[in-house]
Amino acid sequence: MLLVKNGRVLDPASKADVAMDVLLDGEKIADVAAAGKLSAVNDAEVFDASGLIVAPGFIDIHAHLREPGQESSETIETGTRAAARGGFTAVCCMPNTKPVNDNASVTRFILDRAKAAASVRVWPIGAASVGSKGEAVAEIAAMKQAGIVAVSDDGKPIATARLTRQVMDYCRSLDIPVIEHSEDVSLAAGAVMREGVTSTRLGLAGMPGAAESVCVARDVQLAELTGARLHIAHLSAKGSLDQVRWAKQRDLRVTCEVTPHHFTLIDEDVQYDSRYKMNPPLAAREDRDALLAGLADGTVDAIATDHAPHEPALKDVEFDRAPFGITGFETALALALEQLVHTGRISLMRMVELFTTGPARVLGMERKIAAGQPADLTIFSTDRAWTFRAAESASKSRNSPFDGRAFKGAPVATVVAGRIVFEN
Ligand SMILES: [Zn+2]
Repeated sequence: MLLVKNGRVLDPASKADVAMDVLLDGEKIADVAAAGKLSAVNDAEVFDASGLIVAPGFIDIHAHLREPGQESSETIETGTRAAARGGFTAVCCMPNTKPVNDNASVTRFILDRAKAAASVRVWPIGAASVGSKGEAVAEIAAMKQAGIVAVSDDGKPIATARLTRQVMDYCRSLDIPVIEHSEDVSLAAGAVMREGVTSTRLGLAGMPGAAESVCVARDVQLAELTGARLHIAHLSAKGSLDQVRWAKQRDLRVTCEVTPHHFTLIDEDVQYDSRYKMNPPLAAREDRDALLAGLADGTVDAIATDHAPHEPALKDVEFDRAPFGITGFETALALALEQLVHTGRISLMRMVELFTTGPARVLGMERKIAAGQPADLTIFSTDRAWTFRAAESASKSRNSPFDGRAFKGAPVATVVAGRIVFEN
């Protein structure tokens, strides 16, 4: 048993913001009471959370763990250790591994590896199409039985409107979301960053924001046609957010996530350094401002990292040749505090919602701090000073533009199934 005492409990499900004790017994929360009311029984371990925030366990709905097949960049063991250090208690891993997670045996392999080596819960996302090649629907029902929580061809969009419609029809009957990397590949072809003054100055090929929003429009229309649950991954453009807002006004089952790097950096920050290369690329200032507004007004459902580790040998090459993506687990909370909370743009409760009940709702799950609920907690400080050093990361990869950044606020303990899996 684990007793977390005297923490400031922030629970978006009940809107509670009060000092409480939380008693965890294995997989479940056993009891919750006003601070000082619960005492350690028998051999319960005690964690003093005085001065700290106690939140439901953070969920990262979008990450790449690279196993199977790209273990030189990350494994389920190293990736989830980094996730735990970032305060995440559950991560959804994208299917673009080698082989692609497009069938139940790969799904089972991931879950077996997670059982043996993971620090936090691993919830696999299956491919929408066979090999994510965009030709035929993958074995979605069999993968769901094996344990996937959603489907996606992430890394690219589901190739055609026709196939997207078929995938949505399947997923509607299975009641799982389709997570879409919305990108018009013809508009994005050859581009390595956002099109604009900076891409011109750097001499790099750029894509317009419409490369994303044109595809979001397609996907939203198909969500209306099929009644499926559509979740837009790593939304970065104002035009895309307008589409999601329109869909929500019509009560379509459309949700979206935003990454910390997209609400922190813009295309003007891009240097000729592959740690600034990701897809979708860092957007224009007006896009970033729109994302901040969407995070504040409820249009955005979740903050997701899109943790995309690449070993140095792959990433330390010319900008044009480097793969897209940056690591994200260990800096997500600190960036959210820095950009959203310390600036007064959103409340601490809203930030916690974006890491907990928000992504849970996308997945059709609940998160709350109450007896009988899963014993997953994220305990963090809003003011602890620290500096992120990529070289000291638990991830196998170092590709972060935030290396060396000083932060205020950090995860202090991550609790999964009643056990402290990370403590700082
Ligand atoms: Zn993607």
